[in-house]
Amino acid sequence: MSINAIRARTLATVAHPPLSGFTAVTRQKAEQLSAEWKGTNAVGQNTKNFIGGEFVESKTTNWIDVVDPASQTLLTRVPETTGAEFEQAVAAASQAFKSWSRTSVLTRQRFVLELQQQLRQHGEAIANSIVLEQGKTYPDAQGDLLRGLQVVESAAGIPSALLGNAIEVSKDMDTTTRRLPLGVCASIAPFNFPAMIPLWTIPLAIATGNTLIIKPSERDPGAAMIIAELCQRAGLPDGVLNVVHGGVPTVNAICDHPSIKAVSFVGGDRAGRHIYERGRKAGKRVQCNMGAKNHAVMMPDANKNHSLNALVGAAFGAAGQRCMAISVAVLIGEAQSWVPELIERAQKLIVNQGFEKGADLGPVTSPAAKERIDGLIASAQEQGGKILLDGRGLEVAGYPNGNWVGPTVIEATTEMRCYKEEIFGPVLILVKADSLDDAIGIINSNPYGNGTAIFTQSGATARKFENEVEVGQIGINVPIPVPLPMFSWSGNKGSFLGDVPFYGRSGVDFYTQNKTTTTLWRSEDAIGKKASVVMPTHL
Ligand code: NAD
Repeated sequence: MSINAIRARTLATVAHPPLSGFTAVTRQKAEQLSAEWKGTNAVGQNTKNFIGGEFVESKTTNWIDVVDPASQTLLTRVPETTGAEFEQAVAAASQAFKSWSRTSVLTRQRFVLELQQQLRQHGEAIANSIVLEQGKTYPDAQGDLLRGLQVVESAAGIPSALLGNAIEVSKDMDTTTRRLPLGVCASIAPFNFPAMIPLWTIPLAIATGNTLIIKPSERDPGAAMIIAELCQRAGLPDGVLNVVHGGVPTVNAICDHPSIKAVSFVGGDRAGRHIYERGRKAGKRVQCNMGAKNHAVMMPDANKNHSLNALVGAAFGAAGQRCMAISVAVLIGEAQSWVPELIERAQKLIVNQGFEKGADLGPVTSPAAKERIDGLIASAQEQGGKILLDGRGLEVAGYPNGNWVGPTVIEATTEMRCYKEEIFGPVLILVKADSLDDAIGIINSNPYGNGTAIFTQSGATARKFENEVEVGQIGINVPIPVPLPMFSWSGNKGSFLGDVPFYGRSGVDFYTQNKTTTTLWRSEDAIGKKASVVMPTHL
């Protein structure tokens, strides 16, 4: 049975009465969102497709419920966009490409600047939507948007980024290279950063002259719908950005459609491998950011206070649902004696609904995710691991139905399932190592290569780590070293498939192709001479 069929069957057996589990605050925010935005809804009505500049109700018979992870209250229903609607989105994007790709780069830059302003002005609505659908805390939802906004802001430099090359290769002969858009592109997003990930692709794909079809996560499409409306308000012509919805059928339609030239994907390994293979087979440019297991090495000479705070924040913030969350701490020597203090700090974190004051982390995304995380914690116990702090069975006052998992700390070995699998929850695995070399060995043996960090006061230790560790994004006394958009994403090994990464210089490369022209306007032709018939060598 397909994942979608299982999900549909599960949802069919669960009743989600709209608004019944809301507090007064949540209800007010849900009602305000629903009243103010055309594409999204948080009071039980349907999320729309955005095709050719119109927010349109889908004609599908296949709807996916989106529920508040803190209360299981029905927020909205997302369509599995029909084949005909998907074709309309591709047709709108193809038609819009004809004119958008010929629009001046300054017009495209102005759109980016306008979008930046719109996003800043309406950031509260986006953050509210993220808290409701995704469950993270309000300040963390603001961070989700801000990290996306930074990509928008860096895309404002698009005229310089698109500068080509030119040289007089021979007398009176010039070769120029221009960076041109690809055509219709598509972007498939995960649930954990509903604003940031769409904003990794929207500004650069569009500023480089492409048109784009976005498929947000079917679990939290609201932020993408608000962003689409803000793109429209920022003056984006109809059809340049389109939003379709759904699960595997819509993703497969994206991979297969001959008019789509490039696919960006961020999400889990299974989907990523499938999309990479299917998209590449159909001749598309594909970039896939996937799962992770990020290790932090705690050296005994580290600043204990800073390291412990950094570790606790990076392991449990966003309920561990960040691809750059620290999920493993490798403790070396004396650092192994810091565990009681680590646990003390983890215990102090407040788990609560995202709008509640003082909440440090919210619920995990779904009952299925909670069950999977609880199962991985149990597996550690079965395989001989020591559960030092157990977040299972947590109850949160006022939210009896939330998908709660509290901060969990497990002492384990690298053979155990809880170490090997990505948990994607508030669970920190502790492993011990005798030396820095052993720690580097552990990290390099792990199939993932998204992020890693070392905490030390020694420049030499940090330098050795940086030189020898094979992971693509390294933090030295920095727990979540996500590169700002003047750089590019550089996760590697099992965390990435493709050749050209997201945003920054690479983002511009991903969304453009070079066209090279060689031109001869010979000055002597004005007076006429015999034609040369030998092979041109440009010498
Ligand atoms: P997911 O793979 O379940 O879903 C991601 C997208 O793929 C969604 O839009 C979904 O509809 C689609 N999808 C899901 N299963 C599919 C399938 N079998 N075939 C085709 N499409 C499918 O991921 P998620 O649970 O939404 O997100 C969490 C995962 O994303 C974690 O593994 C996390 O590490 C990863 N992630 C990675 C990065 C990164 O930059 N490396 C960033 C964020 C999240």
